[in-house]
Amino acid sequence: MNLLIDDGNLGLCVEQHPLSAIAERFGTPCYVYSKAAIVDAFEQYRNAFGDRDHLILYAVKANSNIAILKLLADMGSGFDIVSGGELARVLAAGAAPSKIVFSGVGKSVSEIQRALEVGIHCFNVESAPELERLSQLAHAAGKTANISLRVNPDVDAKTHPYISTGLRQDKFGVPHESALDLYRRARELPGLRITGIDCHIGSQLTQTAPFAAALARVLALADAMRADGIEIEHLDLGGGLGIRYQAEEHPPSIADYVRTLVGGMGNRACRIMVEPGRSMVGNAGVLLTRVEYVKPTPDRCFVIVDAAMNDLVRPALYDAWHDIRPVMRATAGEERLCQVVGPVCESGDFIGRDRMLNVAASDLLAVMSAGAYGMSMSSNYNSRPRAAEVMVDGDRAHLIRERETIDDLFAHESFLP
Ligand SMILES: *Cc1c(COP(=O)(O)O)cnc(C)c1O
Repeated sequence: MNLLIDDGNLGLCVEQHPLSAIAERFGTPCYVYSKAAIVDAFEQYRNAFGDRDHLILYAVKANSNIAILKLLADMGSGFDIVSGGELARVLAAGAAPSKIVFSGVGKSVSEIQRALEVGIHCFNVESAPELERLSQLAHAAGKTANISLRVNPDVDAKTHPYISTGLRQDKFGVPHESALDLYRRARELPGLRITGIDCHIGSQLTQTAPFAAALARVLALADAMRADGIEIEHLDLGGGLGIRYQAEEHPPSIADYVRTLVGGMGNRACRIMVEPGRSMVGNAGVLLTRVEYVKPTPDRCFVIVDAAMNDLVRPALYDAWHDIRPVMRATAGEERLCQVVGPVCESGDFIGRDRMLNVAASDLLAVMSAGAYGMSMSSNYNSRPRAAEVMVDGDRAHLIRERETIDDLFAHESFLP
C-alpha cells in the first residue's frame, strides 16, 4: 500500500492529507499514521488465511496507541501482549479477552492475576518456574489457565542479534528438546489446561525459510505430544515478518508468508495463530520532523532535526536504516552528503547517516517506515517531551496522542521531605 503520495505543490501527503498541514497544526516532531495502510495490512493477513481456521493477534508492543488498537479490535483482531500495561490498553480499546494471548519471560504475580481475572485466551509460558507460578495462582483463584509453552526451536532467524529470539543462547522460551517433559509436568499441575504450542524466532525476517524450519520443529513436537496423549488445539507461530525499509530489500509478502505457514501445516487441522507487529503497522507511519540547523563542519555536513533518538531509537539501537525524504521539493540548491542527527547529547543520536539531501533550516523531513517500534520505544531522555501522534483517514487528520508538555516531564517526581 502506497502511504505517501507526492502531490507536487502540496508536497508529500499521507493519504490525501499534506504533511505540511499536519506540521502546521500539530507541530513537530510528530508521528503520522495512515488508517488505510493499517486496515490494508490486516486485510492482507485475513485474506491470506481465507477459510483456514486462524487467529490474528496483533503484537501490541510494535505500536500501542489505543486508537490503533481500537481500529484493529473493531476489525476482529486479537492481541499478543507482554505486560499488564498492554493488557489494560487492549481492554480499554475494546479487545475481547478470548482473543488475548500473554507472552514474555518475566510475567509478575500481579500481571498473571489480572490476566486470570480477565480470562484471557492463552498464556504463552516461557519457563518451568513460570509454569509453577501460573499453576499456583490459577489454582488459588479457582481458575483454569489455558497454556502453551513457548518453544525455542534453535533456528537462526538471520536478523539483527538484538531482535533474534529463537536461538539456543537467547533468553526466550523453553529448549525444544525439553519441551515435551515440561508439557508432561504441566499435565500434572492443577489450574492448567494445555491448549497449544507457541514459538517466535525473531523480528524483521526477510526470508521464509527460518519460519518453515521453526514450524517443522514445532510440528515434530506436536506429533511427539500426541503420541504421549497430549492433544493441542492451536499452534501460535509468533510474529517476525519483515518490512521493506530500503528499496533493495525484498521481504516476503504477507501472502507468501502465510502460504509458507499454511503449506507447512500439511493436512493438520489445528488452528494457526500469528502475532504480527511490524508488518501490521511499520509502513503505515512516518516520523515528521523539522530541520533546526544545517551545520557544515570541516569533515561533514550535519542536518540537525527536532526529532532524536528519544523519539526514534532504532537507528541508535540497531543501526537501523530509515529512508528520509524532504516533504517539499527543493526549488534551489543541490543535494549533498548529510548526517541527519537529533539534539540529544550522544554521538549515537542519529536518524540517518550519509544521506544525499538538499535541505535548509526549517524544512520538513519525513522519516519513513516509522510506524513500528517508533513511538512505542520512545523515552524522555534529555528531558524531551514525547512527540504527538496523528492518524490520517482520507483527507482528515486526527490527533490520537497529545504532545507531552514540559510540566508532564516531572509531574510524578517529588522533593525529599
Ligand atoms: C515482538 C513480538 C512479536 C511481534 O514481532 P514483529 O516482528 O513485530 O512481527 C510477536 N510475538 C512475540 C512474542 C514478540 O515478542
